[in-house]
Amino acid sequence: MSESPENKARYVLERCADCDECRTMMTDVCPFFQELYRLFDDMQETGRSPGSKDLRLMVDRCNFCALCPCPEIRNRILDAKSSFIERDKMSPALKIIQDVEKWAGKMTRVPSLANLLLQGRLASNLLKKSAGLHPDRDIPRIPEQDLDSWTRKKGIADTSCADTPGAALFAGCSARFFFPEAARAAVGILQRNNISVYYPEQNCCAMPVMLEGDRDLTLKMMQRNLESLTRTLDAGHDIVCSCPTCGYMFRELLREKAYYSREYQEAAGANDTYMLVPRDNRPPPMDQREHKRLLRMIYGSIFKDDGLFSVFPAMQRIRVAESVYDMGEYLLGLYKKGSLDTDMAAVNKRAAYFPPCHLRKQGIGSPYVQLLKLIPGLEVQEIKGSNLCCGMAGIMGFKQDFHQPSLEMGRPLMQKVQDMQPDILLCDCLSCRLQFSHNLSIPLAHPLEVLYEASRKR
Ligand code: SF4
Ligand code: SF4
Repeated sequence: MSESPENKARYVLERCADCDECRTMMTDVCPFFQELYRLFDDMQETGRSPGSKDLRLMVDRCNFCALCPCPEIRNRILDAKSSFIERDKMSPALKIIQDVEKWAGKMTRVPSLANLLLQGRLASNLLKKSAGLHPDRDIPRIPEQDLDSWTRKKGIADTSCADTPGAALFAGCSARFFFPEAARAAVGILQRNNISVYYPEQNCCAMPVMLEGDRDLTLKMMQRNLESLTRTLDAGHDIVCSCPTCGYMFRELLREKAYYSREYQEAAGANDTYMLVPRDNRPPPMDQREHKRLLRMIYGSIFKDDGLFSVFPAMQRIRVAESVYDMGEYLLGLYKKGSLDTDMAAVNKRAAYFPPCHLRKQGIGSPYVQLLKLIPGLEVQEIKGSNLCCGMAGIMGFKQDFHQPSLEMGRPLMQKVQDMQPDILLCDCLSCRLQFSHNLSIPLAHPLEVLYEASRKR
């Protein structure tokens, strides 16, 4: 018999209460740990064990920002969330809104009508109420032309252009359906640097549905992307992601635990005594990579390829994960090789740049800061703080019951921006952009938009 969702959530509660590390480290910023320690303290005081509703609320508070120290705990939270959904079912309204690609994709076919509905107060309030969205949240405008249509018109979505190896852009739903200007800037910069750009078939990276606990849909979406990205690699392209959350899904979560698989162990030449795992997060080709040795007798039964994506072949997951670049990282790589066109017009502004959580988790630093500093006249200040998060998390911040925790989670970051008073706020996560625009009245842009504008003016 499979374990109940309550027991899965209770396990996390007990582990973290016992460890207590995150009580001081995380409760200022994380609504999940606030709830966890509240439940634990209540339990200590009253002797009452938290009920199903409390445990469900606790796991629903996690937005997978990945700021906390234990990946294993995050995965268990997600597992408990998914088990609640599998047993108790998702509301039909949430089922629709979590699938951003589906509803936003339909809206982009009739942008004027969609905006009339989504922006008009009466209709929009009715829609928000029936979909369980908070009335204060503004639904972003649907652009006149979405990214998929634009790429078709430009001829870069056509498979025939895939014959010329170059960069394949994975843009993410926010850019595809709400802010295509960010992805158009990515295409523009790559082309300006004589790199042929291809826009491969792509689905939502699955982060929003994974956050809602819809395991089946998460796997379906990931499978379609895995197939398309594998074809893209077979055709000789580099894969670049302009969205840090999609990048985090493909580079980090997709390959999580895959190195422990039998297939990888065999390929790496492990033996009965030692397991081998790569030393680098971004390892070189197999024949050049260095491995750490783990004593199989101790770790063999603990380190297994048994995560959410272990249903897909381990070597395929590793291949895709190791081949995806963040767009900023890719451009910085060109710069370091001396092949980035750095002839840019002056932008006389003071910019603040926020490196989003899912970029920070990729361990590649802040490539956009170095790139933006190449623009004459632009003063760039990075917003630093390892616990800073905008709190938005896909559609979670839109939901009636997560709206307030989401704002609270983002408050320290918003305060920092206000104290800095920049002329423009730059961030490569377009989901963060939604939270920024809800809280601040400062011009916002993806760093790529500023870089492209500066290079176009020359
Ligand atoms: S997430 Fe890890 S470090 Fe934090 S309280 Fe739980 S077990 Fe401890
Ligand atoms: S992933 Fe983020 S929201 Fe979830 S428990 Fe960790 S810090 Fe909190």
